Amino acid sequence: MSDADIRALRAKLKHLDLLQSINGLLGWDEQVNLPPASGPRRAEQLAAMAAVIHEAQVDPELGRVLEQLENADVPLSEDERVILQWARRDYDHARRLPEAFVRRKAALESEGFHVWREARSANDFGRFAPVLEQQIALLKEEAALQGMGDRPYDYLLDQFDPGLTEADVETLFAVLKADLVPFVRAVVDSPVKAHPEKLRGLPVEGQNRFLREVVEAIGFDFARGRIDVAVHPFCSGDAADTRLTTRFSEEEPLSSLFGAIHEAGHGLYEQGLPVEHLGTALGEAVGMAVHESQSRIWENQVGRGRAFWQHFEPRFREIFGERLDAVSSEELFLAVNAVALTPIRVEADEVTYNLHIILRFEMERRLFGGDVKIDELPGLWNALTRELLGFEPASDAEGILQDVHWSCGLFGYFPSYCIGNMVAAQLWKAIRSQMPDIEADFARGDFSRMLGWLREHVHRQGRRYRTKELVQKVTGEALSPVHLIDYLKERYAPLYLPEAR
Ligand code: ZN
Repeated sequence: MSDADIRALRAKLKHLDLLQSINGLLGWDEQVNLPPASGPRRAEQLAAMAAVIHEAQVDPELGRVLEQLENADVPLSEDERVILQWARRDYDHARRLPEAFVRRKAALESEGFHVWREARSANDFGRFAPVLEQQIALLKEEAALQGMGDRPYDYLLDQFDPGLTEADVETLFAVLKADLVPFVRAVVDSPVKAHPEKLRGLPVEGQNRFLREVVEAIGFDFARGRIDVAVHPFCSGDAADTRLTTRFSEEEPLSSLFGAIHEAGHGLYEQGLPVEHLGTALGEAVGMAVHESQSRIWENQVGRGRAFWQHFEPRFREIFGERLDAVSSEELFLAVNAVALTPIRVEADEVTYNLHIILRFEMERRLFGGDVKIDELPGLWNALTRELLGFEPASDAEGILQDVHWSCGLFGYFPSYCIGNMVAAQLWKAIRSQMPDIEADFARGDFSRMLGWLREHVHRQGRRYRTKELVQKVTGEALSPVHLIDYLKERYAPLYLPEAR
């Protein structure tokens, strides 16, 4: 009986999803509320939940339901096929990893994080190198357990963006790099300079009020979501309960604002996933790149645009009063769109950011391709920084040791950030060709048509399509780096290279 089986499958998946959401809340609470001495208790709680979740993931009863549905003679609906296919993938994926391996991986993640933190503060790559080597060996072992031992880097990319391969990324990044390196050079050499430091000292209370108004205006639903303060901004939760965090600095008031718009973009995606399908693939994001496209399109294409500031600048000035008297509208807009070289990825603007990602992809593919030794890595990092950004970092702490990702075994994740920028730019092009007057909406403070379009074409689709399929389907053409290059030139050339126009 197929109907009863599909109900049984949905019930199993829902149970698993509820467990995972409880785990997510514990993680959110750890970042936002946890008293300083309560860490060990929380670690035990998280380990207990991890064991319960693993048990539900590999539950033989779930395997039996999957098999019955796969062998049923009653045809499944399109939705049911999507749900079944992804549930099978996730089930097999979990079953192929022995429990001892999963425990070893979790232990190395936590050890790696602590070793990395010490190595970075001591600027000592040698201390981090053995952990890095172990992480790579462990992930190669995992790829082999999953039957992809001959293509470990493809395996890792597929974890974050189903269907994406090293060859895809290589092709996309080669085109982007060829255009972006000289463009960045021209922009940073321009006599036009942004002065974001003119905004220093804007009180946190006003920043908080302003960013909440912006996040509400673009459509974030505070009835089933909230914003809190945490050391690292993130978005967690799901369509039923979406948690955003931000952090405030009087030194850099725009960074809290754009951080919050970014996380709200992730939050809008989560809130737009069909809540009735929560726990199944139809209630789940496509992958990291599409998720990132949703944060970036609000942060950059919308939030850094003229129309957005046409609407919000008067309110911004109203809140901060005479502190902004010495800042002209053009200076404010230029500060919003400041471009500057920095060795640090997380401090980079939207133009140069992509080069930081290309660098990490070049490192990762060589690490997993086996054509570089661990002790050659800092030199390789510095050489790539010189090639892409035109200078070398002053230390390994500002170079190869700057990111937390590799310490926790996150490889194949960085490319999603840049691919997300590409997807955002390609969606933005489609939006503007279908609604040429969309920015007139923004100038009036109306973001509902924009959100409605994303809801219909991206959010409500869940995991129906893989990354490349979704882009093709929604924009009518294959995923391409060209739209990102065009968007960056259209936004930044008039500001920094007026003579070139
Ligand atoms: Zn993000």
